[in-house]
Amino acid sequence: MNRRAAFAISLALLGGCTTAPRVVPAAQIQAVLPGRYDPDNSFAKIIRGELPAAKVYEDDRVLAFMDYKPVERGHVLVISKRSQARNLLDVDLADFDRIMAVARRIGQAQMKALGANGFSIEQNNGYGQTVLHLHVHVIPRYSGQPWGEKSGPPMPMEAREALAAQIRAALPPR
Ligand code: AMP
Repeated sequence: MNRRAAFAISLALLGGCTTAPRVVPAAQIQAVLPGRYDPDNSFAKIIRGELPAAKVYEDDRVLAFMDYKPVERGHVLVISKRSQARNLLDVDLADFDRIMAVARRIGQAQMKALGANGFSIEQNNGYGQTVLHLHVHVIPRYSGQPWGEKSGPPMPMEAREALAAQIRAALPPR
């Protein structure tokens, strides 16, 4: 193979690698995870102020609030206020970027404010997902402590507010 042909082939291969990530068309997604976004899901209600939440962070696009059945002390959920994505397959990646930027700051604040030794990110799609508005769990991890279970009644709002205030005060600047 001459050098020009080899160069053309490598360019073609490279082109394949550098193409922007493809978002699966909505119809195709629905075949995998059927259903539609429900504007009356509980997180949409929290965004509209129809349900209470212990807010940790809010801007014009992203909201972070305490999970009402934490698997660890200080468990936070981060959501987009604008996106109507149910899961990672149908979210606009720019919206997901915003969510993750906030999730990272929340994790840092959990370590600083709550003495967590680290934090885990969980994000369920379809199976294992109970609220169909895309959300990222930011779960503080304490060494030697196994990941808990969601069970029992919701944590009282007062206790959630107290944790939210601690985390909020330790949020690093953007
Ligand atoms: P997933 O199972 O990934 O869909 O997670 C949904 C999470 O949302 C669970 O951890 C619930 O405890 C939490 N959750 C559901 N409703 C509320 C609510 N109104 N306020 C706070 N957390 C909630």
